[in-house]
Amino acid sequence: MIVHSIESLAALEGEGLRCAIFLAGCPMRCAYCHNPDTWDPRAGREYTPEDLFRKIKRYEPYFRAAGGGVTFSGGEPLLQAGEIVRLGRLLADENISYTIDTSGCVELDEDVKAAVRGAELVICDLKFPDAGTFKEYTGGDFSRVLKFLDFLAAEKIRTWARTVIVPGINDKEEELDRYIEVLRPYVDSGAVEKYQLLGFHTMGFFKYEKLGIKNRLENTPALPAERLSDLQGYVNDRLKTPSPAIL
Ligand code: SF4
Repeated sequence: MIVHSIESLAALEGEGLRCAIFLAGCPMRCAYCHNPDTWDPRAGREYTPEDLFRKIKRYEPYFRAAGGGVTFSGGEPLLQAGEIVRLGRLLADENISYTIDTSGCVELDEDVKAAVRGAELVICDLKFPDAGTFKEYTGGDFSRVLKFLDFLAAEKIRTWARTVIVPGINDKEEELDRYIEVLRPYVDSGAVEKYQLLGFHTMGFFKYEKLGIKNRLENTPALPAERLSDLQGYVNDRLKTPSPAIL
């Protein structure tokens, strides 16, 4: 598998402290992406699942003590779903659980289904709430995300949903109402446990310059933390999901 980077103790990638594995490659082109350096599927180091397992084991005392596990993020981790399944079996033998942090905009092939079935938790983005804005700001196909969420619900796989809030694009309450509309059936049925908002930030801007990639949001400011908290309170009230924002 091609690994872009590893964060041995990540705090925001699921429950407890996580050993976060950022896998290389992403077919999406989210306007707000702060990791364009992960887009290239060759942008990383190659590991066999066995090699990566040995590396993860070195961090186990730390994440286990903090009630955590492994998180596969990216890039789009499910591009390497078959490898996640192989590594997941090694982790399961040692009673180490994993979370998948995905765009959800993936083809539901057998490897993807097996990878998410093996996860203790899936964190799925709801980047935009309809096909038009989804296409405009990510380049992806919104119907795939809905099919993915339906699959997680049908399989009773624990799920959190997340949305990045970008000033001038989706930072108004009436815009969030449309996200709430999409998520409500999943939340009401218990399929989605939490809905967390993340604030757009500009810390990844330098990567666009370095890679020579046009940054569509170069004039967009970071979302103030207070505004993020207000919006998180707004969605929590409406969905009755007491979720913390990701500050
Ligand atoms: S899915 Fe994630 S990694 Fe891929 S472009 Fe979007 S924000 Fe960036």
